[in-house]
Amino acid sequence: MSGQINAFEMAQKQFDGVAELLNLDPQIAEVLRWPMREYSFRIPVRMDDGSLRVFQGFRVQHNDARGPNKGGIRFHPSETFDTVRALATWMTWKCAVADIPLGGGKGGIIVDPATLSVHEKERLCRGWVQNMWKNIGPRNDVPAPDVGTTPQMMGWMMDEYSKLSGQYTPGVFTGKPLGGGGSEGRTEATGYGVIYTVREAMKHLGIDPKESVAAIEGFGNVSQYAAIGFVEMLGGKVACVSCWDRNEKKSFTYSHKNGVNPRFLLTITDQYGTIDKAKAQDAGYVIEDGEKWIEKECNVLIPAAIEGHVNGDTVKKMSKSVKIVAEGANGPCTPEADEFFKKNNIFDIPDFLCNAGGVTTSYFESVQNDMNFYWTKEEVLQKLDTKMTQAFHGVLNMSLKEKVYMRDAAYMVAIDRVVKAMQLRGWV
Ligand code: GLU
Repeated sequence: MSGQINAFEMAQKQFDGVAELLNLDPQIAEVLRWPMREYSFRIPVRMDDGSLRVFQGFRVQHNDARGPNKGGIRFHPSETFDTVRALATWMTWKCAVADIPLGGGKGGIIVDPATLSVHEKERLCRGWVQNMWKNIGPRNDVPAPDVGTTPQMMGWMMDEYSKLSGQYTPGVFTGKPLGGGGSEGRTEATGYGVIYTVREAMKHLGIDPKESVAAIEGFGNVSQYAAIGFVEMLGGKVACVSCWDRNEKKSFTYSHKNGVNPRFLLTITDQYGTIDKAKAQDAGYVIEDGEKWIEKECNVLIPAAIEGHVNGDTVKKMSKSVKIVAEGANGPCTPEADEFFKKNNIFDIPDFLCNAGGVTTSYFESVQNDMNFYWTKEEVLQKLDTKMTQAFHGVLNMSLKEKVYMRDAAYMVAIDRVVKAMQLRGWV
C-alpha cells in the first residue's frame, strides 16, 4: 500500500461514506462491512530440489446474496489477509455494478510466482485447491486469474477440483485457457472493458478520442489490452506504459516519441509482464524510473497495476491536462487522490466499474461451460461492450441525478442491488 492506508480499511471507509449518503440501516451496513466467510491455510509444496516449502493461502467470500462468490486468486509476495478482504469486498460491488448474478470473493497466496519452476507452480495451484475444494464450486464460489496467476494455472486448478469431486467441472474456475474450457475474448476482456468505459466517458465529456493521449501504469494483462484498445479502438496515442522488472526488482516507465506501440511491446514482454530493455531501446524507447508514468503529458490516466499507487503524494505530479482517470487496477486511487480529483474536476471511472470487463467475461465463460456451447470472439466482445456500456451509464445517471462523485454513484448502484437481494432472500 505504498505506506498509505491499509486496503481493507480503505474499502470499509469508502463503504461507510456511501452507507451514510444512502441512509443505510446501520445493522445492514454492519453485514456488508465484513466478509461472510474467510479461509486461511498453509500449503506444503515439494520443491524440485526435494526440499519442502510451506506457503500461506487465503480465500475470502465477502457476500453471495446475488449469486456464487466470484473473484480472482493473486500470487503476490506482499499479499496479506487484509488485501484479500478488500479485494473480495470490491468484487461484490463489481459484480453488482456490472449487474451479473454473482457475489464477491478473492483468494491469494504469498509468493512471487517468477521464483517457481513450472512444476512447482502446478503443485502450488493443486495444493490451493486441495485446501479449498469443499468450499468452492460452480454454485458457491468460482475463482479466476488475477495478478500473478494465468489461464494455465486455472486449467490445473479446474483439473484438481474435477479429480477430487469425481466430475469434470469446468465451471468451477474461469479464465481457463482456450480449448480447456476457456472463453474467447477473456484475455482481452478487462483491458478492452476499460476502453469501452473510457469511450463512453469521452462522449459524455465531449473529448475527441483521436486527439487523446493516455499514460498507462503497468504492462500486465489489463494494461496490455487497455493500451491496444486505446490505440486500435479509439485511435488515440499512448504516451507510456510502465512495467515491473523482475530481474532488477523495480519498475520502469517506457515511452516513445511517436507514442508506444503496444503490439510491438507485447512481442518483447515475458509472461510476468517484464519488457526486454535492450530490445525496447533498440526500437527507440526511452526508459525511465517506474514512477515517471504519472508525470507524462496526457489527458487520460490509466493506473492498471496494483492498489494505492495514485495517492496524496503522487497525484500532485500528475499532468495538468488529465481529464479522465480510468482505474484499470483494483484500488489504485486512495481517498486523498479522490479529494484531489473532486477539487480539480477530474472525471474518475472507479475501479469496480472500469475493470469489470474481466469478471463479466468470466460470467460469460461460466454460462458457456454450463451450456457446453461456445460463442465466437465477436459475440463475446459484443456482449461485453453492451454490458459495460449499460453499467457505465447506470453509474453516470446516478452520479448526475444525485449530484455525487462517480465512485460514490457506483457504490450507490451496487449497494442498492446487494441490499435488495439480501432483503428478497430474507437475510436482513
Ligand atoms: N481478477 C479479476 C477481477 O479483479 C477477474 C475476476 C473474475 O473473473 O472472477 O475482477
